[in-house]
Amino acid sequence: MPEHYDVIVIGSGAGGGTLTWALAPTGKRILLLERGGWLPREKENWSSVAVWGDKRYRNSGFWSDGDGKEFLPKQHYYVGGNTKFYGAILFRMRERDFGAITHVDGVSPAWPLTSADWDPWYTKAEQLYSVHGQRGVDPTEPFTTAGYPWPAISHEPRIEQLSDDLTKAGLHPFPLPNGILIDEAMPAQSACIRCNTCDGFPCLVQAKADAAVVCVQPALAHPNVTLRTHARVVRLETTGSGRAVSTVVVERDEGGVLEREEYSADVVVLSAGAINSAALLLSSAGDLHPDGLGNSSAQVGRNLMLHNNSSLIAISKIPNPTAFQKTLGINDFYLGDPDGDWEFPLGAMQMLGRSDAFTISFDVPDAENPADLAAHSLDFWLTTEDLPRPENRVTLDGNGRIRLHYRPTNLEAHKRLNAKFRSLLDAMQCMDDVMERQTYVGGRLGISGVAHQNGTIRFGTDPATSALDVNCRMHDLDNLYVVDSSFFCSASAVNPTLTIIANALRVADHLAGRLP
Ligand SMILES: Cc1cc2nc3c(=O)[nH]c(=O)nc-3n(C[C@H](O)[C@H](O)[C@H](O)COP(=O)(O)OP(=O)(O)OC[C@H]3O[C@@H](n4cnc5c(N)ncnc54)[C@H](O)[C@@H]3O)c2cc1C
Repeated sequence: MPEHYDVIVIGSGAGGGTLTWALAPTGKRILLLERGGWLPREKENWSSVAVWGDKRYRNSGFWSDGDGKEFLPKQHYYVGGNTKFYGAILFRMRERDFGAITHVDGVSPAWPLTSADWDPWYTKAEQLYSVHGQRGVDPTEPFTTAGYPWPAISHEPRIEQLSDDLTKAGLHPFPLPNGILIDEAMPAQSACIRCNTCDGFPCLVQAKADAAVVCVQPALAHPNVTLRTHARVVRLETTGSGRAVSTVVVERDEGGVLEREEYSADVVVLSAGAINSAALLLSSAGDLHPDGLGNSSAQVGRNLMLHNNSSLIAISKIPNPTAFQKTLGINDFYLGDPDGDWEFPLGAMQMLGRSDAFTISFDVPDAENPADLAAHSLDFWLTTEDLPRPENRVTLDGNGRIRLHYRPTNLEAHKRLNAKFRSLLDAMQCMDDVMERQTYVGGRLGISGVAHQNGTIRFGTDPATSALDVNCRMHDLDNLYVVDSSFFCSASAVNPTLTIIANALRVADHLAGRLP
């Protein structure tokens, strides 16, 4: 007989880790299954050579693209999931993102819940992940009566100068919302002086608000919560009616020896990341679910969205000694070009963590004097919304491995956003050329840049066009929920994780009411 729990959660990242934290005080027996282990705390956490050059922490193995070409995705399997590596910029989606928006390549569909519905969950999510920010400066910020739990992290002098210059150019730069576990006694600049960034690096001093530190570690203080690491779920089996998950099949790595284990639960919550969750449902096909578990809508695996991202390095004419650079965003072009003849949304701009001499020479091998370039670099991240296309999808190859079929959308809008950025260089006191940073995304628009993956098991009210209901329960199964970024109907152009966290808190609240 499989060992029985009240709730099994699969995956300990932003979705699964947060939901486990929220359910822990209910006293229900909860099993958290995570295919990775605890991320080692070691000096390499802060080494760009180890993180970017040696790809020390990328442990997902190879996936393939639609042509069968293999690539190493930017994925990390650890307790806390990809939040161990994320930049911790925690945005609310904009009010209009929840409605239908016409883009150059088509319509970004409406969500079944409005910005007002999300507001209380976003507020709780911001509190839980200690978001530092300032309301009322970002012109696209959605309405809320709640303040940020912490004041914004102040700009260092070169970024303050940048903010002044952009304001003089008629824009509305604002302090980025950072999820960071610091207070006035330990300002970011001193806590983070060693690694200069949360971006892409694990935080050795655990000052980044990631799902392991904020949620999994505290959840494990409850005796009713059990974590099994190196426990990869390989299949979900159903009851005879096919209406419920009966068995969660796990391949457990016991020091190199793979053991098969089986568990059951009243409720199973899948949160393995949008690509892995879809792959697990597809590989759990059986007689009663021939096209994949819960896939009567044929939506599972489809509508994969990745964001159109560019990572750009501008070279400041004056030195940039900033330690903690991720403090400024620009959303003036989010819904279009206020000065131009372009009627469609362009996207968002935000600062990234600092480049150093190693990353510059890695990105631009023929760069002369990378150390000098690094001392003058100002690093930016540009994002344009990607649209859900049914053809952009996760499938499995003949060996059951992940294959991604993907063609980006809205490229013209992204090109124009890039042009907007370049038009600001003079105002920003930068040289008139920029370098592209390949390390951050694994190559601009490269398929391996799956950091912002979402949309593969979308939620909705119509079982013909969505796989999940509004509570993120599968339409086809009574006890299976999905709380990673799979449920997104559209990607917006802001970073996805606060929405994943808010949704996990919302679904946990629903489950707490449902569990006996
Ligand atoms: C370098 C980088 C920077 C980023 N910066 C930001 C940012 O600043 N702001 C932002 O909002 N987002 C950012 N992101 C994206 C953010 O990390 C993700 O949106 C978020 O982690 C997704 O949460 P999730 O719960 O959907 O999945 P994940 O966090 O990926 O968690 C999924 C978990 O499931 C586990 N798992 C997978 N398959 C199985 C299985 N079969 N069995 C058991 N366990 C399994 C994985 O090991 C993992 O722990 C960044 C990502 C990266 C890589």
